[in-house]
Amino acid sequence: MKNIAILGSTGSIGTQTLEVIKDNPSLFRAFMITGHSNAYLLIQQAMEFLPEYVIICDEAKYAEVKEALSHLPINVLAGYQAIKDMVTHPEIHIVLTAMVGFAGLEPTINAIKAGKDIALANKETLVVAGELVTGLAKQHNVKILPVDSEHSAIFQCLAGEEHNKIEKIILTASGGPFRGKTTDFLSTVTREHALKHPNWVMGAKITIDSASLMNKGLEVIEAKWLFGLEADQIDVIVHPQSIIHSMVQFEDGSIKAQMGLPDMKLPIQYALSYPNRVKNNFKRFDFVNYPNLSFEKPDLDTFRNLKLAFEALNRKGNMPCIVNAANEIAVAAFLNNDTGFLDMSDIIETCMTKIGYIEQPKLGDYLNTDKETRIFAQNLIKQMPLKAYD
Ligand code: NDP
Ligand code: MG
Repeated sequence: MKNIAILGSTGSIGTQTLEVIKDNPSLFRAFMITGHSNAYLLIQQAMEFLPEYVIICDEAKYAEVKEALSHLPINVLAGYQAIKDMVTHPEIHIVLTAMVGFAGLEPTINAIKAGKDIALANKETLVVAGELVTGLAKQHNVKILPVDSEHSAIFQCLAGEEHNKIEKIILTASGGPFRGKTTDFLSTVTREHALKHPNWVMGAKITIDSASLMNKGLEVIEAKWLFGLEADQIDVIVHPQSIIHSMVQFEDGSIKAQMGLPDMKLPIQYALSYPNRVKNNFKRFDFVNYPNLSFEKPDLDTFRNLKLAFEALNRKGNMPCIVNAANEIAVAAFLNNDTGFLDMSDIIETCMTKIGYIEQPKLGDYLNTDKETRIFAQNLIKQMPLKAYD
């Protein structure tokens, strides 16, 4: 029986993780669950799964959660610091990081230092501080098990293979709702258009990232650190059906692919049960229903975010941290109708030129870079000419 801490249990990945736990009560137990502001759902989850700890990040909601769970033997805590502290609890075996954004970094670092294996959904952690986090994982002998479907695919393809035989990996991208569109078209799109992903239902931030191809850019950086690769060993190919979740090409030219219907519960389950596979009743893929799996090159001129992410990876240091923070602010502004779709790339590019570059950042440098970039990007957005987006 593995005790799981789910950071971000009220989100898309978090709720699907609870479904996996529910399907496998003899293997997994929800030991700790955390939410940010959705007190209602967190309370419902606590009542159903009876975890040892429930943490609501938004301290204003503490009284509500505490009161609702007062008749149950559950420890209720509040605040971000409580999450950072409690991930080190001796009874936790795996921490599944399903918080969104930079907020995932510090709890993950604390969990690694306490020797916990990480089931990593929060890709931003590796984007911001991949070298630091993977270095700590090595030092503390903990596994970072990918939850992101592409990285889970690569991880599965690598089972039984030697690392030095990898020629390259090929990350697949659905292309999002705006695949094949022009820059002119993108200049007119609204948040409602961008929130409609063709294949996946996910949280708002990653859905916008998928529409702008920034998600693939973040995944390229995530893959670099997870699998210890050079930037030129990572290819991206657009595959609109999202059936091949990613591939590895070995030095003899052989390519292995991992396939299945798009369903995050499989990579979540694999990360939690690794190294074992667990039988389940998820819907099966049938080749006959997909006679046309297709592939095309990503359009880096129209979807500039992917190009910017590759550039950040090549420039190393705190550059990916700058890109991540600028992107988080840009996406929040776009979701708030404060900026246009194409402005997001401009904001990121300007931050890349204006924020101080640090070649070998330490944790404090990442925290400062993140803060500084957010402030800079927010001011930039305020100064941008007002447009009507709704
Ligand atoms: P959601 O927006 O659906 O959920 C985010 C979760 O994090 C919620 O529980 C939310 O709480 C909590 N949260 C938000 N902000 C903070 C904060 N500042 N501090 C603490 N907790 C916070 O996101 P997803 O589940 O879609 O994504 C989670 C992570 O997984 C992201 O990093 C994403 O890139 C990655 N991922 C997601 C995939 C997907 O299919 N959804 C696929 C692959 C990776 P509340 O709702 O209570 O406010
Ligand atoms: Mg993915």
